[in-house]
Amino acid sequence: MDTLLKTHNKLDFVQPIHGFTEKVSANTSLKPQKLETKFVCKKPSAKFCGSFCVKASSSALLELVPETKKENLEFELPVYDPSKGLVVDLAVVGGGPAGLAVAQQVSEAGLSVCSIDPSPKMIWPNNYGVWVDEFEAMDLLDCLDTTWSGAVVYINDKTSKDLDRPYGRVNRKQLKLKMMQKCILNGVKFHQAKVVKVIHEESKSLLICNDGVTIQASVVLDATGFSRSLVQYDKPYNPGYQVAYGILAEVEEHPFDVNKMVFMDWRDSHLNNNKELKERNRKIPTFLYAMPFSSQRIFLEETSLVARPGVPMKDIQERMVARLNHLGIKVTSIEEDEHCVIPMGGPLPVLPQRVVGIGGTAGMVHPSTGYMVARTLAAAPVVANAIVHYLNSDRKLLGNELSSEVWKDLWPIDRRRQREFFCFGMDILLKLDLHATRRFFSAFFDLEPRYWHGFLSSRLFLPDLVLFGLSLFAHASNSSRFEIMAKGTVPLANMIYNLIQDKD
Ligand SMILES: Cc1cc2nc3c(=O)[nH]c(=O)nc-3n(C[C@H](O)[C@H](O)[C@H](O)COP(=O)(O)OP(=O)(O)OC[C@H]3O[C@@H](n4cnc5c(N)ncnc54)[C@H](O)[C@@H]3O)c2cc1C
Repeated sequence: MDTLLKTHNKLDFVQPIHGFTEKVSANTSLKPQKLETKFVCKKPSAKFCGSFCVKASSSALLELVPETKKENLEFELPVYDPSKGLVVDLAVVGGGPAGLAVAQQVSEAGLSVCSIDPSPKMIWPNNYGVWVDEFEAMDLLDCLDTTWSGAVVYINDKTSKDLDRPYGRVNRKQLKLKMMQKCILNGVKFHQAKVVKVIHEESKSLLICNDGVTIQASVVLDATGFSRSLVQYDKPYNPGYQVAYGILAEVEEHPFDVNKMVFMDWRDSHLNNNKELKERNRKIPTFLYAMPFSSQRIFLEETSLVARPGVPMKDIQERMVARLNHLGIKVTSIEEDEHCVIPMGGPLPVLPQRVVGIGGTAGMVHPSTGYMVARTLAAAPVVANAIVHYLNSDRKLLGNELSSEVWKDLWPIDRRRQREFFCFGMDILLKLDLHATRRFFSAFFDLEPRYWHGFLSSRLFLPDLVLFGLSLFAHASNSSRFEIMAKGTVPLANMIYNLIQDKD
């Protein structure tokens, strides 16, 4: 079974690949695998010394991974009082970036909002990277803790591309703090629980939480990320998966320029001594994504851009260890690690439906890249404005009518068409082996910046996307053109069919 299973807000990754079945949870750490690599213990620490130092040359990278520590924001939350039996204007289920952004903006307009999350104070676990211009446009530059003036893409051992576009790492603590503070100031109430069920009445909905509390709301927003807790889907769920393993590490040294982040490193010479791994990488390639903070502190993430079924985490880790060895990167300690499983593409939720959605649950991840955080934050005002407008307007809308208008604003026809094109992009990427992937990105990053910037940041809409496609074709090598035609014809036909079917 090669699917992500929905189990109580936990994504379980179950798939048989290469003769074994692996189960990976996107929310929990994997058991360390024993992997051969070079790691050094610079200063003997109570934790690692003893057996670790003695066995350093053959110790596992993953033995350096600390116990997961869940850091909380330090402040008192105004809590929702269920005994009052009030009907709030908006209940936001899920306190990730998507949910909090909408809670903040709806409450700013004076509406009553309750935010429900099992760990409302916990700092988000994911390491978010964004293009600086995306955050600048939203006045969020203060929520980037590191920026790089540009990025680099290694196509192979001989060719690299310098991307003249600043990139940044989101300061997730600062972003959450900023949003929470605004929510608190605007009167948002918080309830620490998981929603297990929703019951709809004509003009309000009842949210049943796992602590027995019921919260009543005029509008329910599902912002539960990829666990898709409340929003309904009526088509088979068949996404591709981006799978990545990342470490924030102290290293003795690394070969990267600290002024540039490494957007993609498709080199594979680290696998020359391992035929089997090299062959697996040829068929379904992975790349290194790296954010060098200094000459000794770096975030390193081995990433499978998209595959169906997803590449097993163990395979990704094995490739990463081989790469770090080859690059001479000696890890001395790991601050945190990240197991990333992002479902990409697949169908949109039922449009419209009573529960409204945003973020992962509402199909907003970029189907060709896995990026979403900037797009979601930019879409939050659209959802918030619609809710405020329709709840406050003279002809106040409620229930299904209101939800229907919100969904229309979130997924208008031009956004649906854009997503269809991105899914077409994903369908092509799914079919490319390492060499074809290299040729693809070589042509992609040779495009005029407005095309590749716009594609990656969901700023191009259908007419421009067609020009983007033609331009990509014109920049491609002859073999790449042949590949695109051979592998893209069926996805292209599917996309055209879906575009024709989808009418306003
Ligand atoms: C490891 C990882 C790294 C990523 N890195 C990037 C990146 O660099 N750049 C980028 O643009 N995107 C990235 N993404 C993609 C995407 O931006 C993130 O997944 C983002 O966190 C999604 O935001 P969200 O608010 O929709 O959901 P989430 O951040 O997943 O938040 C959902 C919240 O809902 C809560 N919840 C779930 N079920 C319930 C329930 N039943 N009741 C109440 N609460 C519930 C959860 O506890 C959680 O707090 C990454 C994704 C992952 C998994």
